[in-house]
Amino acid sequence: MKLAFKIILITFIFSLTTTMTTYSQSDLTPKYLSIVIDDFGNNMIGTKEMMELDLPITVAVMPFLPSSKQDAISAHKKGYEVLLHLPMEPNHGKASWLGPNPIITSLSSKEIRSRVLRALDEVPYAIGINNHMGSKATADKRVMEIIMRVCKERGLVFLNSRTNSSNVSELLAKKYNVPYLENDYFFDDVYEPAHINHQASKLISLFNKQNNVVAIGHVGIPGKMTSKALRTYSPVWRKRVLIVPISKQFYIKSNKYKGILPFTALNDSH
Ligand SMILES: [Zn+2]
Repeated sequence: MKLAFKIILITFIFSLTTTMTTYSQSDLTPKYLSIVIDDFGNNMIGTKEMMELDLPITVAVMPFLPSSKQDAISAHKKGYEVLLHLPMEPNHGKASWLGPNPIITSLSSKEIRSRVLRALDEVPYAIGINNHMGSKATADKRVMEIIMRVCKERGLVFLNSRTNSSNVSELLAKKYNVPYLENDYFFDDVYEPAHINHQASKLISLFNKQNNVVAIGHVGIPGKMTSKALRTYSPVWRKRVLIVPISKQFYIKSNKYKGILPFTALNDSH
């Protein structure tokens, strides 16, 4: 018995020492990754693969398209959080990339508000808005003021996809007390498997500098490639970080977003 006790004690001390030397203080700080997948709503390539990932992704759905409502409902049923992926005017690019009823800076304020409200009706369960394109419109104070007012009225969050360097959205989110975050990282800004895998493989290095990361991927042309990369690399990420729904990130950042937290946000998914 005595020998057995000694062995247990030695093993315990050894494991304690190993633990202490292996993990520094910064390793013990919780680190959170959220993955937002944009461009759902048009029966896009990769929709099924993304929906079947065993990850708490956030599904960003474009309005007024053939599968807008269905994609939002399916995502919600699977326990994923939903955002309205609002099409907004870019500085460059084709109007056709925006889809129906986009937010254009030349529209009247009344029409912009009406389009935002109708777009929200098109995407049930949306807990907030992120922008599709929008390098021009998200830098426009009048346009963003209308959007932030709607967010405030409806208790929605705003995720800036960061298609420009403007701070207009952030300043207005502060003014209206709207929970606000920015995208940190793109998986698939280039539609090539090698690039997407490279992005997925170096994602974890971001956590050397910060504890919270929001990363964006897409259905559509890169959909299958990106879902495959997420499936491959998520077990690696999970060794170092918690992958959480986007509302958890808003909750951590502001402490203001307490009102309508979905139950998933309270449980770290691991
Ligand atoms: Zn988009």
